[in-house]
Amino acid sequence: MAKPNTPVIEIKDLKKHFPVKKGLLRRTVGHVYAVDGISFSIGAGETLGLVGESGCGKTTAGRAVLRLVEPTSGSIKVEGTEITKMSKAELRPYRRQMQIIFQDPFSSLNPRMTAGDIVGEPLLVHGVANTKERNEQVAALFARVGLRTAQMSNYPHQFSGGQRQRIGIARALALGPKLIVGDEPVSALDVSIQAQVINLLMDLQRERQLSYLFISHNLAVVEHISHQIAVMYLGRIVEHADTRSIFTRAQHPYTEALLSAVPVPDPAIKRQKRVLQGDVPSPVKPPSGCHFHTRCPYAVDRCKVESPPLREIAPGHHVSCHLR
Ligand code: SF4
Repeated sequence: MAKPNTPVIEIKDLKKHFPVKKGLLRRTVGHVYAVDGISFSIGAGETLGLVGESGCGKTTAGRAVLRLVEPTSGSIKVEGTEITKMSKAELRPYRRQMQIIFQDPFSSLNPRMTAGDIVGEPLLVHGVANTKERNEQVAALFARVGLRTAQMSNYPHQFSGGQRQRIGIARALALGPKLIVGDEPVSALDVSIQAQVINLLMDLQRERQLSYLFISHNLAVVEHISHQIAVMYLGRIVEHADTRSIFTRAQHPYTEALLSAVPVPDPAIKRQKRVLQGDVPSPVKPPSGCHFHTRCPYAVDRCKVESPPLREIAPGHHVSCHLR
């Protein structure tokens, strides 16, 4: 049994490097440093927003946490138990506790299965319930996520985008998980529907003490749901703090640039616009020193040669920048 206050998930120095193979003999000629030593923990009923541009490694990080891709090194603890090296059979009970919601609800739902079967499938796979019990549990899940039980026999194409994401959420809830990884779960939805789905996720969190790892390229989307935010750039976390500190006292130039794209509701408050130049460099050959130096407006010579460590500059506020 987990000790009180043990995080639901604790990640230490997690790395995922994909080999780059070339030629007839498929020799390894390099690596994609998709995730390069990240650490964080999430408590019960808490949300960590993991933010960064596309290509920064956040999706791979989410999958490595769930061991949907095998980490290269590092540690993953679920309620204090190390699961990083567990066999598939040993991992099975932990898989039930950790579920994922995908970005595109249409491509993640099997078009040949009814919505009821999609939501009930995890129960079937884990041998949780007989047909009658399963149908009752699926009907309760449908009602809880705001779908009508009459819709259980419909197919995914008969639902709207927002309803399909509700099916994805009901499926993720089926086994009573403790942690849900949301990989851009609202990015494909209209703004008004995004708010509804985020409100549903927050209600479910309060009811069930769920923990979320909420992955998004958009800081505005994670603001309301997150208790803490980690900003990722080229496989590394460059800033990590509680949500209020990130939005009022961001310290890393990359976070500042992401924030400048977030609309401010009060027209009296002006945020300085910082447009990021260029794209995220290739994670196969990341820039030397501080990975961000090729796009940073404050870069000095030291930034090109020396990698800044992630330092705690205020209680709970970590930043990786030589100038902070
Ligand atoms: Fe910019 Fe240098 Fe700080 Fe990196 S270490 S964010 S390049 S100022």
